[in-house]
Amino acid sequence: MSYILHRSLGVELPVAVKGDGCTIVDADGKRYLDACGGAAVSCLGHSRPDIYKAIADQMNALAYVHSGAFSNAAAEELAEFLITRSPQGFGTGRALYLGSGSEAMEAALKLARQYHLENGQPERHRIIARNMAYHGNTLAALAVGGHAQRRKPYQPLLMEVGRIPACYAYRLQEPGESDEAFGRRMADALEAEIQRLGPETVAAFVFEPVSGATLGTVPPAPGYVRRLREICDRHGVLMIADEVMCGMGRTGTLFALEPEGVHADIVTIAKGLAAGFAPLAAVLASEKVVTALAEGSGTLWNGHTYMSHSAACAGALAVLKAIEAEDLLANVRRQGAHLRQRLIEAFGPNPHIGDIRGRGLFQTIELVADRETKVPFPAGKGLAAKIKTRAQNAGLLVYPAAGCVDGVNGDHVLLAPPYIVTAAQIDEIVAILRQVVEACLAEALKD
Ligand code: PLP
Repeated sequence: MSYILHRSLGVELPVAVKGDGCTIVDADGKRYLDACGGAAVSCLGHSRPDIYKAIADQMNALAYVHSGAFSNAAAEELAEFLITRSPQGFGTGRALYLGSGSEAMEAALKLARQYHLENGQPERHRIIARNMAYHGNTLAALAVGGHAQRRKPYQPLLMEVGRIPACYAYRLQEPGESDEAFGRRMADALEAEIQRLGPETVAAFVFEPVSGATLGTVPPAPGYVRRLREICDRHGVLMIADEVMCGMGRTGTLFALEPEGVHADIVTIAKGLAAGFAPLAAVLASEKVVTALAEGSGTLWNGHTYMSHSAACAGALAVLKAIEAEDLLANVRRQGAHLRQRLIEAFGPNPHIGDIRGRGLFQTIELVADRETKVPFPAGKGLAAKIKTRAQNAGLLVYPAAGCVDGVNGDHVLLAPPYIVTAAQIDEIVAILRQVVEACLAEALKD
């Protein structure tokens, strides 16, 4: 009997007791190969004495001070690390620390609103977001999220948000349409939505540069983000990049936006930032945004108790320094390409795998009932959930989700192994996943 209000009330979960590289061990001694880092969190795996030491050293010196009264060295050094590595054009921005990705999204939306008030544009309050986005579970973050099923119970509590489609090539690119033309068409939906809402009322556009949990690692089409940037600039709309899941190296660069050659005005990061060794998220505000505050009220109108937590910041700093010192982003790119190759070999011939997509160590397979028509399996079959359970029983942790087609139907399996993963472990992940998926498909096709 558990006194925890678990996500599933009727299920008894194994108790995890130990981490060992890319493996988690439960109380019965069963080992699980971690191919998803929980939810793309544990990017350094599960046993890093150097990170524990950095956190313990900070704890021994000082654990917590209120951010309204003091700064602390770990938070300062981490901010400098992040801002000085931000994409070109971001300028001398500043970092604001929070405890979760959802909190960071709330703070980012409020910061966008404050920016416009400081600039004397109080009518700018509307947010535009993409269908099928995931931005977190607190009310404003859920409101900008676009997953129908997750929003449904709370709908009456959610603010209204402008919507455009996600840049989901597998389902939205037209036959014969080039990648560039597709990217432009998807980005131009933002122009149309801004016009529909009234450009002078729009505060910000928010998106995941590489889609995460709800759509399953969809990278942007060529030129898409650049075009979005142009549209935002033309209308004085702030661009908020939610890099909570895809950032901090997951796609092979520290910031997911780097390969697009574009900067956002506000960036949110979490998950890989402290790699699960501490709960930490951050909002990075570009120079443009910081200047508006500095030349306006001179204050940030938003605060939380655990902002700039020194032990969490010390852990994150040690994580990011380790990623850099060990050149782990090169491994993300190398093993990401290897993972993709193995997925194509294992699942390419399978008539029920419609799409294999992703970037770096952030890859997804999407399952379909019919490859020709791309029709998904009925949601009632619970395919994604069955794959998750069967994989865990087989000692493999993956991150399947349902609803990628319309918020209800559609099944995909997301993989996000730690950046330290080896080629042999990738081979093992794909081999087990193949058996699990084939067994689950056989069952789904039978009943
Ligand atoms: N934004 C994105 C892109 C995410 O993937 C998530 C979580 O999965 C969040 C925000 C919310 O983060 P958290 O669960 O830490 O609140």
